[in-house]
Amino acid sequence: MKQVTIQTASKTYEVKIGVGMTDEMVSFIKVSFPDVSKIWIIADEEVYKLHGSSFKEVLERSFDVTTYLAPKGEKAKSFHTYEEAITHGLKHQVDRKSLVVAFGGGAIGDLAGFVASSYMRGIPFIGVPTTILAHDSAVGGKVAINHPLGKNMVGHFYQPEGVFFDLRYFSSLPKIEVLSGFAEVIKHAFLSDLRFLNEIMHSFKSVEDLNEKFLTDCLVRGIEVKGKIVSKDEKESNIRAFLNFGHTYGHAVESASGYGNRTHGESVMIGMIFALHLSKGHAGLAFDLDSFIHWVKSLGYNLTIPSSMSFDTLFEGMKRDKKSLNGKPVFVLLKNIGEPLMADIEEEELRLSDDFIRRL
Ligand code: NAD
Repeated sequence: MKQVTIQTASKTYEVKIGVGMTDEMVSFIKVSFPDVSKIWIIADEEVYKLHGSSFKEVLERSFDVTTYLAPKGEKAKSFHTYEEAITHGLKHQVDRKSLVVAFGGGAIGDLAGFVASSYMRGIPFIGVPTTILAHDSAVGGKVAINHPLGKNMVGHFYQPEGVFFDLRYFSSLPKIEVLSGFAEVIKHAFLSDLRFLNEIMHSFKSVEDLNEKFLTDCLVRGIEVKGKIVSKDEKESNIRAFLNFGHTYGHAVESASGYGNRTHGESVMIGMIFALHLSKGHAGLAFDLDSFIHWVKSLGYNLTIPSSMSFDTLFEGMKRDKKSLNGKPVFVLLKNIGEPLMADIEEEELRLSDDFIRRL
C-alpha cells in the first residue's frame, strides 16, 4: 500500500492507494470515529452494480449503513440529485454523528462532498474513488454541484477525513475513462517536471498494457503534485489556479459538447494542447509539441473539434471561466515544464491556437 499525506490549512489527511482498501477504511473509521452513528454511502448507481454489494457487506459487518444511489456522470451533480440525496439522509436518520462515504468517480466525489459539507451544517466524509481521474478530484477539498448556467458553480472547500483508492475498481473502467483519468495525470506532470512527463510518455504506450505498479506510481506522483500546491493555497487565492492548466479551453469544449458527451479528461487534453501552443508563442516554451500530439493520438484520444462548434461559441465559454479578468480569458501557460504562469490572452491569439487545434 502507498500513502500520501495531504496537509492543508484546515485539515491533514491520508490518501491510501492499494488493493483491499475497504478493510483499511473500516479500521480507520473505528479508530477515528468510534461513536459513528451511521455510515451513509453515496454511490454512483453503475459503479454500485459492479462493486457495491461486497463493499457494503464489509461495512455492514461493523456499522449501521444506509445507501443512496445517484445517477452516473454529471447528472449526479444536479440540484435535483442533491435534494434527493438530502431527502434520503433525512428519511434514514442520518444525524450529525454520521459519516458520508463517497463511492464512485469525480462526479460522485463532488456531489457527496457537497452533501456532507451542507447536511446539518456539515458532517464528515471519506472518499472511495473508483476512477483514475478521481486521483485529482478526491484530493484538495473542492466539492460542488452544477448550475444550469455553469459547472461547479455551487460548492465549498471541504476536505475529506481520508481517501481510500482501491486499484481493483479500475479493472472495470472503460478505455475512454482510463484515457480521461490519465489526462489529469499528464497535467500534473506538466505542472511538475520534465522527468515525470518523459517517464509517462516512455512507459504509457497503450491502455491495454497499463500495469499496477506504473499506475500506482502515476497516482502517487499526481497526488503529490496536487497536494503540494493545495498545501500552499487551499482556497485558490493564487497558485492553486495553476491546476487549471488545460481547463480554460477544455471546459469550453466540454460545455459546448453538452456535459457527458465528451469526457472531462479528453476535453482537458485538448485544452492542454491549446495551452501548450499558446505557451510556445506567448511564454517562450521550448517543447516538441508535434511528438506529444503524435503520442496522445496513438493512445486513442480523440482531438477533433466538430465544425459545428464555432470559435465564437468556445470564446464565450472561455470568457465565462472563473479566472477571466474584465471579460478577458486568463490562461495557465508554461514557461518551462514545471514553471506555470498566468496570462490574459487577446482574442486574435486565441483564434490562431483554435485554428491549430482544428487542423490536428
Ligand atoms: P464520473 O464520476 O462521471 O465517472 C465517469 C464514468 O465512469 C461514469 O459513467 C461512471 O459510472 C463510470 N465509472 C466510475 N468508476 C467506474 C469503475 N470503477 N468501473 C466502471 N465504470 C466506472 O467522472 P470522473 O471522470 O471520475 O470525474 C469527472 C468529474 O470530476 C467532473 O464532474 C469534474 O468536474 C470533477 N472534477 C472535480 C475536481 C475537484 O477538484 N473537485 C477535479 C477534477 C474533476
